[in-house]
Amino acid sequence: MENIVGWKPSTNYDTVHCVQCNNAVDTPEEEATYPNGTCPDCGSPWTGTEKRSTMVCVTMPVAITGGTG
Ligand SMILES: [Zn+2]
Repeated sequence: MENIVGWKPSTNYDTVHCVQCNNAVDTPEEEATYPNGTCPDCGSPWTGTEKRSTMVCVTMPVAITGGTG
């Protein structure tokens, strides 16, 4: 088992978004599948080119999706 450095709640950390379903890898269980597994949401294999973003102060159960499309 490897320690996930910096993995703490309510702290900014990098998260990965699936390119297929845009599922955010934001739980230890999902993080554990990356990058050598598959998306737990849609089953697509990780490609290593997933979008990454930094989430800050996670207090809500859903990811914040940006504004107007
Ligand atoms: Zn997915």
